[in-house]
Amino acid sequence: MTIVEHYFAGSARARTPDGDRLSPVYNPSTGEVARQVRLASVGDVAAAVAAAKEAQPAWAAMNPQRRARVLFKFKDLIEQHIDSLAELLSSEHGKTVPDARGDIQRGLDVVEFCCAVPHLQKGEYTHGAGPGIDVYSLRAPLGVCVGITPFNFPAMIPLWMLAPALATGNAFILKPSERDPSVPVRLAELLAEAGLPDGVFQVVHGDKVSVDALLDHPDVKAVSFVGSSDIAQAVYARGTANGKRIQAMGGAKNHGIVLPDADFDQAVEDILGAAYGSAGERCMALPVVVPVGEATAEELRRRLVAGIAKLRVGVSNDRDADFGPVVSAQHKAKILSYIDAGVEEGAELVVDGRNFTLQGHENGFFVGPTLFDRVKPKMRSYQDEIFGPVLQIVRAAALDEAIALASQHQYGNGVALFTRDGGAARRFVETVEVGMVGINVPIPVPVAYHSFGGWKRSAFGDHNQYGTESIRFFTKTKVVTQRWPDAGGAVASGSAFVIPTMA
Ligand code: NAD
Repeated sequence: MTIVEHYFAGSARARTPDGDRLSPVYNPSTGEVARQVRLASVGDVAAAVAAAKEAQPAWAAMNPQRRARVLFKFKDLIEQHIDSLAELLSSEHGKTVPDARGDIQRGLDVVEFCCAVPHLQKGEYTHGAGPGIDVYSLRAPLGVCVGITPFNFPAMIPLWMLAPALATGNAFILKPSERDPSVPVRLAELLAEAGLPDGVFQVVHGDKVSVDALLDHPDVKAVSFVGSSDIAQAVYARGTANGKRIQAMGGAKNHGIVLPDADFDQAVEDILGAAYGSAGERCMALPVVVPVGEATAEELRRRLVAGIAKLRVGVSNDRDADFGPVVSAQHKAKILSYIDAGVEEGAELVVDGRNFTLQGHENGFFVGPTLFDRVKPKMRSYQDEIFGPVLQIVRAAALDEAIALASQHQYGNGVALFTRDGGAARRFVETVEVGMVGINVPIPVPVAYHSFGGWKRSAFGDHNQYGTESIRFFTKTKVVTQRWPDAGGAVASGSAFVIPTMA
């Protein structure tokens, strides 16, 4: 059986004799093991960090325009190979092929943004800050940086991280999810083909062993993490305790609030796509809908039930499928247990996806679309992230009650409001305690030249992903104050024993 190897210093091979643990990689549509992935040992991690440390200075010394050219070429190569990348991604993740293309495209947008690094990495300059004195700042790379990524966007999230890290002159080690490791290795191959020097980008597969080794390694300067909140918080704590710069994005439970004046045709289409697309395995999915007023709730429920009846669940390469299987048998069991919990807690199960099977693919990890109504905030199935095709209706009497629900939830990644009322929308934007807000936009993932990040337990650390925030995250500022001897005599002489001022 094929083994997905690390991509280490320019080649795909395991490095140390102790790196012999393997983990199965499934095809979620069939439930079969498609290949295996090698899990790194502490020694493998140390070897990758050493190679990165050796390669980084020459890469950082290359002028930014030449670094940008490598990214341009990389973008070009991804575009050339997007069909095969999407097929590969879909076969390991389970999302449909068109959805997999979107996964790659949203990452490509960030690569494209980072091609502007000669401009983005420029510092600031003040001529004549004092007599004969000029001040300027520059943005230096950090050195060896690391990305640790989740299973649900195996192209987009690695690209969010590697593009700004490499553009700004860092070496980068990616530790992708062990559940869908193949696309990250293809990205490494395409970076090499684009002209990236060996060792500047490496892929190290693994689990907690490799994550902890990366967090503890003194030569790793920064770690960008995306995954579930408990692990994000642990990564943040361990990494910052070791003196590293850490950004750690966590889980989510995004609310979609529907006011009585909303365009119901559009809102229902949007909610169905955002709740069930990618089998709900998106941190910007919309698993909670909050209709305001009983009439809105009844109308919305009626339309959602009708819409769900038309959804098509299929294998990931079924071109007509709306969504495919979930990623693993273990994850399927977790989703089903949350549906059981919702029933036990007293929520009304309107559409039950627990017994869904796809003929001919009985061992695939499928869960049918599921709808709950009359979900209450105290229920565990509401408080936790389910990360599956399960939509929960929580009824509210007024907009302020709906805003409070989203604001008081432990997660604060995304939120959406469906309305035609500009005043209500403005109040919502001002008061809701959530990082990414949509107005009649169900999945408000910001474009590549803004930035991505949630609030509360959806993100630990200070900087968002991508946009100019990412250029700041992957660089450190040096500020230079300089004075040159000048024949005109503008420079004062003699010692100063008080703190210098420009006054
Ligand atoms: P996960 O937390 O299980 O895994 C994320 C990464 O951490 C993987 O690389 C994994 O190998 C590693 N890991 C797993 N267990 C670990 C441990 N005990 N110690 C150290 N590292 C460990 O997440 P997942 O299931 O792959 O992805 C889904 C989660 O990611 C969801 O909670 C989702 O909301 C979240 N997510 C968040 C965002 C965001 O930007 N906020 C984006 C996508 C996904």
